[in-house]
Amino acid sequence: MDYKKLKQQYQTPFYIYDFDEVKQRFFALKEAFKARKAQIFYALKANSNLSLLKMLSELDSGFDCVSKNEIARALKVGAKPYKIIFSGVGKSEDELNFALENNILYINLESYAEMLLLEKIAKNMGKKARISVRVNPNVDAKTHPYISTGLKKDKFGVSIEEAKKIYLYASKAEFLEPVGVHFHIGSQLLNTAPIAEAASIVANLVKELKALKIELKFFDIGGGLGISYEKNEPEPNLYDYAQGILASLKGLDLSIGLEPGRFLVGKAGVLITSVLYEKQNEDKRFIIVDAAMNDLIRPSLYNAYHEIILPYSSGEISPCDVVGGICESGDFFAKDRALPSTKQGDIMLIKNAGAYGFSMSSNYNSRNKVCELALENGKIRLIRKRESFEDQIALELECLKG
Ligand SMILES: *Cc1c(COP(=O)(O)O)cnc(C)c1O
Repeated sequence: MDYKKLKQQYQTPFYIYDFDEVKQRFFALKEAFKARKAQIFYALKANSNLSLLKMLSELDSGFDCVSKNEIARALKVGAKPYKIIFSGVGKSEDELNFALENNILYINLESYAEMLLLEKIAKNMGKKARISVRVNPNVDAKTHPYISTGLKKDKFGVSIEEAKKIYLYASKAEFLEPVGVHFHIGSQLLNTAPIAEAASIVANLVKELKALKIELKFFDIGGGLGISYEKNEPEPNLYDYAQGILASLKGLDLSIGLEPGRFLVGKAGVLITSVLYEKQNEDKRFIIVDAAMNDLIRPSLYNAYHEIILPYSSGEISPCDVVGGICESGDFFAKDRALPSTKQGDIMLIKNAGAYGFSMSSNYNSRNKVCELALENGKIRLIRKRESFEDQIALELECLKG
């Protein structure tokens, strides 16, 4: 790819996503589960760009949404309501209302109280709400604590016992219809054994419910599949992942729901930035670039590793910190990384930034959000314009008196 030409045309920093790679991953995952009825519901919080969603929707992907606006995004690109599900520990009344109005496939409940609220809303609307319960199977996903979600101490889901209570209530309620069960034990899982363990615990619940004449249709295994951020780090084996799930479902007639986010888009995105300055503070070398933690917060937030490449720098290689210009020492992309010496304007690629990159970006330091490009069938196109100062202040300007 001619990054110099792209920089001339679009300026830096910007994100670029390889849509063809996303498609390949989508089909590879689908293929792994072809032995059963399975539906992919892309978790759009990983990257919610409308052009990306449209492309996935055209491949027949469904969408796992965690807010009203994510549902609205999916609908905007033409996703069918029966391909949309709604998850999240803190859905508001307004959001539940919106989900029900739009007849989405099902709502993943995360508490008894949420069920009661949904029942009330459904009753007012005169509609039956299809529900699934997010079970917390209490298995250790062995990932970063901020993205581990399947332990008793985590805020997500309900225990098996509580789930049973919800199903028992819902199965008798006029305006609720239990259709599925859900779990999601964490993100960036490179070892899928904990997911298989969770599946077997949750499958046992399904069998118990069946004995009580509560028949579910959907077995939603969440997302969480990890990707290799470090060179040569092995990625989860999709066949093993699928087998681990399928083994628990023998004798059960259930459709599998998958909610991959990172796995589909993480590897396909690169954040392109330019070197502003290099400096030496005592014995430490810093490369200061024009992207910052507001554009990609993962290193700051999780101490996440991103591979960095300087395709046009050929100077001597030595350790350095790569940092942004924000007034926080947490504003870094890499620490003690062996990289060549650079000149002002050199182009830097921060790789594997397609997931939780732009979608977690902010206007901190009043920086404009960067633009996003897509590479598809050998062609590059703009999929989100660079924000302008006027865009950024519009909502405040309206309120500015005098
Ligand atoms: C975040 C999330 C996902 C996606 O997680 P990834 O690790 O990106 O695959 C799926 N399901 C739920 C409920 C989530 O909260």
